[in-house]
Amino acid sequence: MHYKRILLKLSGEALMGEQQYGIDPARLQEYAEDIKEIVDQGVEVAIVIGGGNIFRGLKGVGQGMDRVQGDHMGMLATVINGLALQSALEAAGMETRLQSAIEINEVAEPFIRRRAIRHLEKGRVVIFGGGTGNPYFTTDSAAVLRAIEVKADVILKGTRVDGVYTADPEKDASATKFDRISFEEVLQRGLKVMDTTAFTLSQENNLPIVVFDMNTRGNLNRITSGENIGTVVDN
Ligand code: UDP
Repeated sequence: MHYKRILLKLSGEALMGEQQYGIDPARLQEYAEDIKEIVDQGVEVAIVIGGGNIFRGLKGVGQGMDRVQGDHMGMLATVINGLALQSALEAAGMETRLQSAIEINEVAEPFIRRRAIRHLEKGRVVIFGGGTGNPYFTTDSAAVLRAIEVKADVILKGTRVDGVYTADPEKDASATKFDRISFEEVLQRGLKVMDTTAFTLSQENNLPIVVFDMNTRGNLNRITSGENIGTVVDN
């Protein structure tokens, strides 16, 4: 096993599947099955889920809303996604816990680092909802923060694209993919892997990021088994 403890970052938008909004149950089930494959092999799995399929703070600002108010809505959206994911994972036969960065005790455990680590050691999938619990942050930052806190070996950032490219492959046909790239080179080339706050936190704490295509079945297992199918970003 290449990675023993991973933090999987899923964007909220990924949960929409082919829809324009909300949660696609079929997509959720596919993710659950892919996650089960690696849990069955003994990989310890923590997950941070985004909220962009429901609400983003900046969207609220665009509608004349106060930023902090919008960010609170975004954080709650991640808890909704976390509950949906938890349900799908349990239906697929995994033990799970949802921990929230904002107190919502009837719905999720509070985030308690030592307890989260204990759950992971027992083979439970731990979903972290509520982002960092602070406005003006993203769930990418939450993913890096939680990964460092629970001492994950790596962040696996599941996206629509299968890695980091020299340019946006959806716009530039001549773009080529990196198998590996350093944090420094990502910055020098002005490439976008995560927002700057999240990226710097990862770099400073020596936490590698693997960008990969989460929508191809079995990819998660390929990565935790050591296949280099995405792009590894490290120091
Ligand atoms: N958010 C926040 N603090 C955090 C994480 C998230 O305020 O620590 C809010 C923010 O408004 C953000 C929204 O929650 O736009 C949804 O998160 P994000 O945009 O990161 O989701 P994704 O793009 O991964 O779906």
